[in-house]
Amino acid sequence: MSVVAATGLSKRFVRGTEAVTALDAVDLAVEGGEVVALVGPSGSGKSTLLAVLCGWETPDAGTLRVGPGTDPRGLGWSDLALVPQALGLVPELSLADNVLLPARLGRPAAGEDPAERARRLVDGFAIAHLADRYPHQASLGEQQRAAVARALVLRPALLLADEPTAHQDRGHADALLDAVLDAADSGTAVLLATHDEVAWSRADRVLSMRDGRLLPGPPS
Ligand code: ADP
Ligand code: ADP
Repeated sequence: MSVVAATGLSKRFVRGTEAVTALDAVDLAVEGGEVVALVGPSGSGKSTLLAVLCGWETPDAGTLRVGPGTDPRGLGWSDLALVPQALGLVPELSLADNVLLPARLGRPAAGEDPAERARRLVDGFAIAHLADRYPHQASLGEQQRAAVARALVLRPALLLADEPTAHQDRGHADALLDAVLDAADSGTAVLLATHDEVAWSRADRVLSMRDGRLLPGPPS
């Protein structure tokens, strides 16, 4: 059974007298273990799709199932991990405590010590030496790597990430992609909105968004 199953998702935003169709009858299914790259120009609807899938926005039409149910808002870190563009790190917690937060709240993957998993992730992402810093004491790229580590620490059933390599050089971007693909190998369904062509080449499937419509394949 797909981890995500959406049909006919539509979302319009009204600003004053102007209406924007951010999602136009989007159908999407993502299986466990599958990595899907979502590509499209700025304003095409990628962030809105992720927002609907995680329950931040309610669709105007369509059906949605994420994991066991139709309302993603009830899902915890083991079921659904999101890396939003704004990252969402908790400013009052050190980077290490941010990364470990899901382990306090959710269910670790079978046979895996989440503290050990967190250590390996932050080592791989070259932020181990920043463990005691607060988010505002780290660069945006370092904060982004901490946010991805936090999302992966429990090997969630579904990972949604909005431009997760946007603030990285190639080496750090590759380390993030390696960890995402490793999570997919253990069953995580992954949807990445990304402009990174290396990420497209490593994904199982590329989908393009244009004016709120979702089409198979990379942009022509
Ligand atoms: P990106 O294109 O990099 O995803 P954003 O998601 O920040 O950038 O914004 C894309 C477009 O959506 C921008 O034109 C922005 O002004 C508009 N937008 C985003 N959020 C809102 C909002 N809450 N209200 C009005 N417009 C918004
Ligand atoms: P992308 O992530 O591909 O850049 P978005 O999903 O952010 O695209 O935006 C899709 C369209 O919806 C854009 O026209 C944007 O301005 C609009 N939009 C997104 N969020 C809001 C919002 N909260 N209020 C009004 N308009 C929005």
